[in-house]
Order: sequence, then structure tokens, then C-alpha cells
Amino acid sequence: MSDAKAVADRLVKSKRLNALLTPSKELRSALTAQAAAARPTGVLYGMPVAVKDNICTLEFTTTCGSRILEGYRSPYEATAVTKLKAAGALIAGKTNCDEFAMGSSTEHSAYGRVVHPLDKTRVPGGSSGGSAALVGAGALPAALGSETGGSVRQPASFCGVVGIKPTYGRVSRYGLVAFGSSLDQIGVLGRSVHDAARVLSVISGRDPRDATCEDRDPLRLPTVPESLQGFVIGLPREYFPTELDPAVRRACDRAVRLLRDLGAAVREVSLPHTAYAVPTYYVIAPAEASSNLARYDGVRYGPRFDGHADLRGLYRATRGQGFGAEVRRRILVGTYVLSAGFYDAYYRRAQQMRALIAQDFRNVFDRGVDLLFTPTTPSPAFKAGEKLSDPIAMYMSDIFTVTANLAGVPAISLPIGRVKGLPIGGQLIGQAFLEDEMLEAAYALERVVPATDES
Ligand code: GLN
Repeated sequence: MSDAKAVADRLVKSKRLNALLTPSKELRSALTAQAAAARPTGVLYGMPVAVKDNICTLEFTTTCGSRILEGYRSPYEATAVTKLKAAGALIAGKTNCDEFAMGSSTEHSAYGRVVHPLDKTRVPGGSSGGSAALVGAGALPAALGSETGGSVRQPASFCGVVGIKPTYGRVSRYGLVAFGSSLDQIGVLGRSVHDAARVLSVISGRDPRDATCEDRDPLRLPTVPESLQGFVIGLPREYFPTELDPAVRRACDRAVRLLRDLGAAVREVSLPHTAYAVPTYYVIAPAEASSNLARYDGVRYGPRFDGHADLRGLYRATRGQGFGAEVRRRILVGTYVLSAGFYDAYYRRAQQMRALIAQDFRNVFDRGVDLLFTPTTPSPAFKAGEKLSDPIAMYMSDIFTVTANLAGVPAISLPIGRVKGLPIGGQLIGQAFLEDEMLEAAYALERVVPATDES
């Protein structure tokens, strides 16, 4: 496909987005070296794929958008990255993200905010905002992101690209820096369903290095179906609240008409515990994060903020200066909900609610529904700074995405229209390990939806 120099030129041109953390010179030489080594027979031969900076690579630093890992070089690489290289892909640098993937706007990066590719006053979404912005700007056909609560689908929706979160256990988490281990999955952003799906198929499949990765063959890509005859698509009423942005509703209505025209049977369904998904997520994810992030102590990784006589002083200085405000907030919340006095009131209840949310999905799928269709986000890309001082408002932008992570099921966001030039995303949620059905419907919808028209 494209040669290393052309790939690097395109990426360097999109510098204004602040989407790539890898310096231009380093990027050029790494791409040249990889192009020389790439296997000419690989299914992704020559395809540049940028990688979110919370996924370990040997060629580049892995900072997770954090000061606490500034300059950190991993001694090993993520299985997903090894598989991409084995398929001939070029690892096209590391993308900017919210610190430790905590955020929905890529404003919580220690290396500055990422700019929306179509409107510089707006955010690209997050936390995989760097990956989404580069694909949205046309600099790359695909990039890896990570999902804990929507960090691939939400920025995909904001930037007008496709974003896939696979079933939990479909892709190895080996080398993905842990945030909420029971929720985390590597996902893919692509300029089309096919670009995202073929990268997903390469990175999927068993990995003896990750016990939570299922012992399954890589995902087989479906062909584009002629029609959606025989598909039953559910519209969960909780995902179409009265306060939904009218432009998002119009785009969804049109997409539903198109799904019907394609032959799918569409029916309204209910996922009654949806209202509890955001609070449940914001107990479980911080709880797991507080434990996972305990390892950043200034001794084992990254820079050490020293000058203190005792160990506690060293920890306090390193963690106080190395972590940004959002990460510190999550650690505090997580430690609180796990503490002896509050465990039952918060963490245990959140776990129980998570089970009910997962059961909601099983109930509709057991009653003959194959897939669900919903908006990906309640509104198009918001303005930079708009939600920074209000964490709850920021958390609410995940309202339609966190459920799939809590239930472990696959989901895809694809462009379904625009409002005042800003992309709107529609989401298909599938059944565990039935990504192929979900992709078939996405292929069919993508082919008929006028994604760049005002809806
Ligand atoms: N926006 C969510 C959060 O801040 C989801 C993040 C993610 O999926 N990594 O936790």
C-alpha cells in the first residue's frame, strides 16, 4: 500500500490536532524501519495503524497521557501490536489520550488536549481522541483505541468514523495498561466498517499470556449482505429519552427507516436497568483503577518526584505531581467505595446492579432480538472546556456506551448523519462473540446511509 514516507508526511501534516505523541523525526525513522521489515504477504501489508498510548509498544514510549509515565519504554509489546506487525501493518506512532484512558474528551491528557478534526473549538471525544481525530482527519485508515466505558465508540461518533468495541475476551489485554480490568478491551477506529473490522480480525483470538482472553480462533469477517431479511433489531426505549438532542433523534429515525428498508424487523424493547448504568460504572471503574494504579509509586516506573526523606514522602510527591486531577479523583472515589465501611453500600451494590444490567441484555436477546440499535452519544461533539469543571456532565456523555462494557457484549458506532457539519453516530450492540452478525448489519447500514448529509 502506501510507502513509509507518504504515511509519515500525512501524519506530520495533521500536527495541529495534537493527536500524535510521537515526535515527527522518530516517527519517520520508525516507519521506514518497519516498512523494510514488514511481511509482504500479510493481510494488512503496508497499512499504517496508529496505537493509543496506553498500549505497549517497543518502538515508542508508552505514557498513557500521563506525567507519571513520561519517557517510559515498555520492555515488551502488546499482543495486539505483535499481531498487527505479523500481518504486515506499520505501527504509525502513539496517539494522545485522556490520562490512563479516564475521560470523554481527551482534555485530560498531560500532553495537551486533542483538537476535533472538523472544528477546532470542539473536542474529539475520548479517551481515544487522538486515534479518532487522526482517522477522522483522513491521516490514517485505522487506529487502535481502548474501551473501558465507551472510549472508542464515543470519539468515533464525534469524529465521524467507525469504532468497534469487541466482546470482553475477544482481544488479548496483554500489554494494554490496566484501568478497569473487568471492563477493558482494545478496540479499533476505522474510516469504514471494513477497515475497522479487518484490523479487529487480525488482533482478535487466543493468547496464552492473558487468562481473560477466550480460547477462540480470530474473528472471521462476514461478507456484505444483500439485505437484512431475517434480522430482528431492537430499539431500547431507555436510549431514546425525551431530552435526546433533536438532531441525534432525526439521524436515528432515518437510520431505523433504512434498516427497515433493508428488510430488518424492528421492534421496541426495554432494558429497564439502563438508568443505573452510569452510576454503576463510576463505582466499578474507579474501584478497579484505584487498585491498578497503585503500582505507579515512583520506584518501578517513570520519573520520580524526589527530595523527601521517607518512603511515604516519595509516594506522596510522585503520585501527587505525576497524576492529573481526574486520575486523582478516580483513585479517591475508588479507594472510598472499596473501604471497609462503604464496600457494601457502594461496591457490592454496583456489582449486583452490573449483573442486572447484563441480564437485561440477555433477556432481550433470548426473546429473539439479534441486535440493538441506539444513538452512540446524547449529542454531537461538545465545545472544549464545556464540561471540564463538571465531571458529572462529562460522565453523562457515556450514558449509551457504558452498558456494553458492563455487560461484556460487542458494540459498534458508525456515522449516520451530520448536524451543522458535525458527525452523529449510531450504535449497534450485539450478542457476546457474535461480532459477525453485528458487522453484517453495520456493513449493510453503512452502504445506504448518507453519513455526511445533514439528517
Ligand atoms: N469516559 C469513560 C471514563 O472516563 C470511559 C473511558 C474509557 O472507555 N476508557 O471512564
